[in-house]
Amino acid sequence: MLDSWLDLVHGAGCVGCAAPGRSLCRTCAARLPGAGRPVRPTPCPDGLAACFAAGDYDDLLRAMVLAHKEHGVFSLADPLGRALAAVALPVLDPGSVNVLVPVPSRPAVVRERGHDPVLRFVRAAARRLQGRGPVVCVTQVLEQRAPVHDQAGLSSGQRAANLVGSMGVRQAAREALARRGAAVSLLVCDDVLTTGATAREAQRALEGSGLPVRAVVTVTATRRRLPVAGRPMSLSYLPALPFSPRAD
Ligand SMILES: [Zn+2]
Repeated sequence: MLDSWLDLVHGAGCVGCAAPGRSLCRTCAARLPGAGRPVRPTPCPDGLAACFAAGDYDDLLRAMVLAHKEHGVFSLADPLGRALAAVALPVLDPGSVNVLVPVPSRPAVVRERGHDPVLRFVRAAARRLQGRGPVVCVTQVLEQRAPVHDQAGLSSGQRAANLVGSMGVRQAAREALARRGAAVSLLVCDDVLTTGATAREAQRALEGSGLPVRAVVTVTATRRRLPVAGRPMSLSYLPALPFSPRAD
């Protein structure tokens, strides 16, 4: 009944299988990863913190990220948050206030889309993590500073150069964290890890303000395909790194 009503009202269906009804049917919801895995861009920006993602930027997760981000299917924020929470849970620092820091979107993009998709599902993730162990909060510590050109089509080196200095720390948010009077561990949160340049810039800005970054957690990570000897070759993210949190 609910699915039929939703389909009638929204004319929408499951982003995973197109079944009429809710934006994510029960069958597809059951396919969501229940844990994260270590991932690493290739090549990897120097000094990038340990990175974890729920799955590849492919198939169901990709459809969910795009529908939520580009088409404002807000009902997907909760399942995206659930996926991110599963990634973040084992990474949380039991001895600190764990601060989920959404990677900021450009203000113009937020205005155009009418919402901030990363902030929305990071808040959903934090709700999932409440009461499950270490203290968790969401703080918009980062803001975009310099204008950033579209990253599409840029190489990893060009992306990194395009981004340096593009993010800064909001002083009010930083002071609010200091007033908590407890040790904080920051987790940089985003929807997609591609070259790692965005995450590295977020990390640079945070660490430059004395805020310790414990890890980067994302819903998805792309698999990079580089042409080798005339043939496409899949350079998948290396899943082999054991997690070693940074010393706080
Ligand atoms: Zn489905």
